[in-house]
Amino acid sequence: MKDSMKEQKQGLHEDFYFTKHGFEKADWHDHAPSPQHFQPAYLSTPEFQKNGYHCEELKDGFYWVTSGGYDAAFFVTDEGVIAIDAPPILGENMLAAIESVTDKPIVKVVYSHWHSDHIGAASMYPEGVEIIAHEITRELLTRFPDKLRPVPTLTFEDKYVIEFGGKKLELTYKGANHCPGNIFIYAPVPKVLVKIDIVSPGSCAFMHCDASENISGWVEAHDQILEFDFDFLIGGHITRWGTRQDVITSREYFHDMLAFADEALMQWSTPNGAGIFFAANPVDQYSVGTVNWINSMVNYVTEKMLSKVTSNGQKWEERLAGVTTNTKYHAYTIVESTRTERTHKGYQKRGTGGSDYFI
Ligand SMILES: [Zn+2]
Repeated sequence: MKDSMKEQKQGLHEDFYFTKHGFEKADWHDHAPSPQHFQPAYLSTPEFQKNGYHCEELKDGFYWVTSGGYDAAFFVTDEGVIAIDAPPILGENMLAAIESVTDKPIVKVVYSHWHSDHIGAASMYPEGVEIIAHEITRELLTRFPDKLRPVPTLTFEDKYVIEFGGKKLELTYKGANHCPGNIFIYAPVPKVLVKIDIVSPGSCAFMHCDASENISGWVEAHDQILEFDFDFLIGGHITRWGTRQDVITSREYFHDMLAFADEALMQWSTPNGAGIFFAANPVDQYSVGTVNWINSMVNYVTEKMLSKVTSNGQKWEERLAGVTTNTKYHAYTIVESTRTERTHKGYQKRGTGGSDYFI
């Protein structure tokens, strides 16, 4: 690229950081450094820098593969390899990782869920390979075809057990959470659980509860993960695999947020509390008024979360990575999901109505 073009392109990108009606550019000086436990040693090894991935045997032939941002996994059995997911950012590094530890063929593939960022390289797997997923995943990939994400060849509704080559893998579905069709993948002998896009070990998760659809289901999935007897959690992101404690910590962060969201709704979203909405000119209430009303609640929850001294005496930013940048996005999602998915604590009564319910 010519230098002048490069400058123009950079200039264009820079401009978008400062648009009047958009988001502000984040500056790392303004944000808490990620806790030490979020920065595993492999990230700074020459092998990782050179290869662009890290592969580690967790136990008994179960391997974790990471790009440093995205996770996948594979299980080596006596009769071949079972691959789990295929994030495009790992792409054929996934094949390289498998080939680095075994010369056995890939005979089965499991999709955790239908999202492209986790299975968008699945077409790289051998033609004719068995692809196992939830039936909703097949429905979605049939409805929205993508040649990079072959349609599953074997699907299930509640539970499916793979017993193959002397190894066992239990697949279960417990309802929609991050998205419909997102399954639990459990290997009971090495005690490894793969549950993608719920808990990002060591982090407060990607924005908006990891861009999830069913937030009540997403929060509940923390408890469902803890029902499994596991020593290793592969969460899909970000820098490392997780433990039970990581799940408990993430659950505490979101439970705190749910409690503050309730407080915010009782203050700003009751008939008496929504004054900031009505403060705008009547004609602007559904634009300016709505933004000020919702943002008041989101800002309340964000400030409460960032200033709270938590159960172990530390603030959230000391316990989890991404807290000072991402909390406001989670707060937005949690406030809105509380309004739409949880009890409204009452409703308008005939006549004079009430004032202690939220909208
Ligand atoms: Zn996803």
